Amino acid sequence: MTAGLRAILYATISCLLWPAFFVGGLVGAYFAFRSPAPLLWFNVVYLTIVALIGLAERLMPYEKSWLSADGETFNDIAHTLLSKGGVQVAAAIGATAPMGVATLAGSFWIAPFPLWPHDWPLFLQVMLALVIAELGLYAAHRVAHENLFVWRFHALHHSVGRLWVVNTGRFHIVDSIFKIALSQAPLYLIGAPLAVFLWVGAVTAFIGLLTHCNLDVRTGVLDYVFSTPRLHRWHHSRVLAEGNTNYGENLVLWDLLLGTYFNPPRPSSTDIGISGRVSNGFLAQLSQPFSARGARQILGRNPNAAPAVAEAPQARKAVNS
Ligand SMILES: [Zn+2]
Ligand SMILES: [Zn+2]
Repeated sequence: MTAGLRAILYATISCLLWPAFFVGGLVGAYFAFRSPAPLLWFNVVYLTIVALIGLAERLMPYEKSWLSADGETFNDIAHTLLSKGGVQVAAAIGATAPMGVATLAGSFWIAPFPLWPHDWPLFLQVMLALVIAELGLYAAHRVAHENLFVWRFHALHHSVGRLWVVNTGRFHIVDSIFKIALSQAPLYLIGAPLAVFLWVGAVTAFIGLLTHCNLDVRTGVLDYVFSTPRLHRWHHSRVLAEGNTNYGENLVLWDLLLGTYFNPPRPSSTDIGISGRVSNGFLAQLSQPFSARGARQILGRNPNAAPAVAEAPQARKAVNS
């Protein structure tokens, strides 16, 4: 194969990869949801997509150095398990815990504001739910970056020096609960049905994998609809002006409307991480935000210094720049 032909083939694959994984995951979810054991089969589909993305990362990485181990793989998986499910199969459970909650709650919950448009086609109901849930996700995520108290929990997610499919679920349990509460509560209150929760869970699961994957994909116009790897790499940048942007988890609608969308015409950042220090061990990472000393380490301050009387809002600038 000539070099020119190889370049065309590479460019074509890099345009098709993101939609192929996303649509492939959703088609798998469709069959899983129609099966007698929807959550089990959804887990199978999810793990299959994780494995395929993991393989593709080896073949078409965005950043080659991110293929090297960083000593955090165990912690990434352990946080995924605890944070999103607490059962055995790391990434799969990470995706389906919200679905489990919806399955249980849906059977006895009576919505106080039954405004949900049950007569709409399911596709439109899911779109509506994604937009509503995204506002909660956006708010939780933005607060986590702009409020120092909440940042100490979210910093764990940003403390990695590389992005790859396995650190998709690396969230502190408190961070996850905060995010799930804000995004799902409005849907419960207005009476969204279980099927809608399942589909929002599926979309969130696959987009989550794809935002963190280390794949050299070209997402073009998709960057104006979905949270793509390109946009999310900016979000993980060490530079505050780049990092405090692109808060959308699935959709970028609220970033576009509220002025936090960031997508300059240059390759997105590979200099990611935080200037504070997150502990090394899994249990130490869990407990670190709860002590004054641990919080000062996360915020990049001298852990032996006296606690600040009042934390200035600008302090975060020093922390993450
Ligand atoms: Zn963040
Ligand atoms: Zn992230």
